Amino acid sequence: MTERIVVVGAALFDGDRLLAARRSAPPELAGRWELPGGKVEPGETPEAALVRELHEELGVHADPVARVSGEWPLRPPYVLQVWTARLCPDSAAPKPLQDHDELRWLTRDELWTVPWLDQDVEAVRELSALQGR
Ligand code: C5P
Repeated sequence: MTERIVVVGAALFDGDRLLAARRSAPPELAGRWELPGGKVEPGETPEAALVRELHEELGVHADPVARVSGEWPLRPPYVLQVWTARLCPDSAAPKPLQDHDELRWLTRDELWTVPWLDQDVEAVRELSALQGR
């Protein structure tokens, strides 16, 4: 059996606003919105992967806060896990450096104003329960 590979998604919060990122590639995913993140490399913890991916993709320094309960299947062998995260005080503002062409901070009321990737919808639903508390 092929081992499963975890893709970490970051629920990056600024107060009660959640960062959403619009994918620019590949063509079949371009224009859809996701929680930024990516594959955990061999020997890497999911938390370390989250910090690395956020730095590579958005140019930020962020700290993981807590795992969001649940795990969502992607194209095998990938599964999506989500951590909440916060920008470090010294961090630059996020910029779309790779994979994305637009970023948006969404309030709870705005959460469903962007077309999320199908596979991120359940995770975003979990997050909406946390948001605005
Ligand atoms: O960003 P990266 O290419 O490493 O992501 C690996 C895979 O995980 C991609 O197929 C991407 O579409 C998927 N993914 C996802 N939801 C996210 C982040 C990545 O479905 N929030």
